[in-house]
Amino acid sequence: MADERATYDWLIVGAGFAGSVLAERIAAERGERVLIVDRRDHIGGNAYDQYDAAGVLMHRYGPHIFHTNAQAIFDYLSRFTAWRPYEHRVRAQVDGQLLPIPINLDTINRLYGLSLTSEELEAWFAARAEPVEEIRTSEDVVVSRVGRELYEKFFRGYTRKQWGLDPSELDRAVTARVPTRTDRDDRYFTDQFQVMPDAGYTAMFHRLLASPLIEARLGTDFADIRHLKPRRGLIWTGQVDEFFDFRFGRLPYRSLRFDHVTLDQPQFQPVAVVNYPMSEAYTRITEYKHLTGQEHSKTTVTYEYPTAEGDPYYPVPRPENEALYKRYEALALATPDVWFVGRLATYRYYNMDQVVGQALATFRRIQSALPAAEATPAK
Ligand code: FAD
Ligand code: UDP
Repeated sequence: MADERATYDWLIVGAGFAGSVLAERIAAERGERVLIVDRRDHIGGNAYDQYDAAGVLMHRYGPHIFHTNAQAIFDYLSRFTAWRPYEHRVRAQVDGQLLPIPINLDTINRLYGLSLTSEELEAWFAARAEPVEEIRTSEDVVVSRVGRELYEKFFRGYTRKQWGLDPSELDRAVTARVPTRTDRDDRYFTDQFQVMPDAGYTAMFHRLLASPLIEARLGTDFADIRHLKPRRGLIWTGQVDEFFDFRFGRLPYRSLRFDHVTLDQPQFQPVAVVNYPMSEAYTRITEYKHLTGQEHSKTTVTYEYPTAEGDPYYPVPRPENEALYKRYEALALATPDVWFVGRLATYRYYNMDQVVGQALATFRRIQSALPAAEATPAK
């Protein structure tokens, strides 16, 4: 058997956005050999999509909608996929109606049987908003803008289900992801680029990893190959606390159980995502055909049930977790030849485009820290 130790310049743990973008950059720009491993049996990380048994394109880890304001990130990914335009719209099931979320003019007029104008709605919110001296928590964000009643209808229950915490226990950044509007814009995002990869995410990942300098080993845990010592460096996109054997204790990550169901009907709901802030054990139902534009006589939907145990999906933004993360970050910074990138490794509630941006920035740091090696002799 060839001595594997000498074969790879880089070992990348995790084949999601963070790991795959770095593998692509290293192979393309540095001409170095990369071994990328994932403990799952597929590439793409949480953005993985697949055709299910019925032939419907679905996302195994819940809905992934691409949106960004960064031209450079959009241009970079456009080398690996064509796109289909898609603007995301979400409804919330509240008081027996499916209402636009983010809360907008139509949400309020329909919920209360009013016919306010945008200007009147601004005053209507102001009359209900609770003064908050310093906006610190996810409760503060919402009650200071729209008041307690709307907070309870749209945010409190959903957040308690999703995080197992009250919004008052979560950093303001969590509910601040969802704006409040006084016009009729019912799009979930307002970013300049709102698109979906037209052949799906997994197809895009195959192209990211297509270089002959990249070897992907799936179903492989870092623990199985940690004896391999890459010549140039290790890129870690798994949990940062796991890398350090949970030395300071576990960082909390919130998990989900996905219940995927295929129905013998062409459509289930009017938009891709319906949120359930006031009832049900699940938080939302996603119907993929709205995202993918696929035509099919059947449809596949996913119910999301938040859980404390399971795969790590969300870092939990709150001050004590940030403090614990900072201790791990200090260890990470003091660990030579290991680069920590991505949502789990930097404990950041990042969207896909932000992870791509972070990976590209990490590549620039690698370039300035380490001149590329001479071409690797083939074994
Ligand atoms: P991941 O995709 O988590 O990849 C890390 C990989 O590392 C995993 O595949 C894991 O198996 C592997 N790994 C970890 N440890 C080890 C180990 N020890 N050995 C081997 N392999 C290991 N973003 C958006 O922009 N839009 C959305 O609509 C959106 N929706 C989302 C919905 C849900 C339910 C979730 C959970 C996330 C969503 N995101 C969305 C965020 C998006 O998933 C992430 O930003 C992105 O996928 C993070 O990429 P990553 O490479 O950092 O991590
Ligand atoms: N949220 C809520 N009600 C909603 C939608 C969102 O309370 O109808 C809160 C909830 O805490 C959620 C956060 O806002 O976790 C961020 O929402 P987003 O849709 O960005 O969540 P993600 O898609 O990342 O799960």
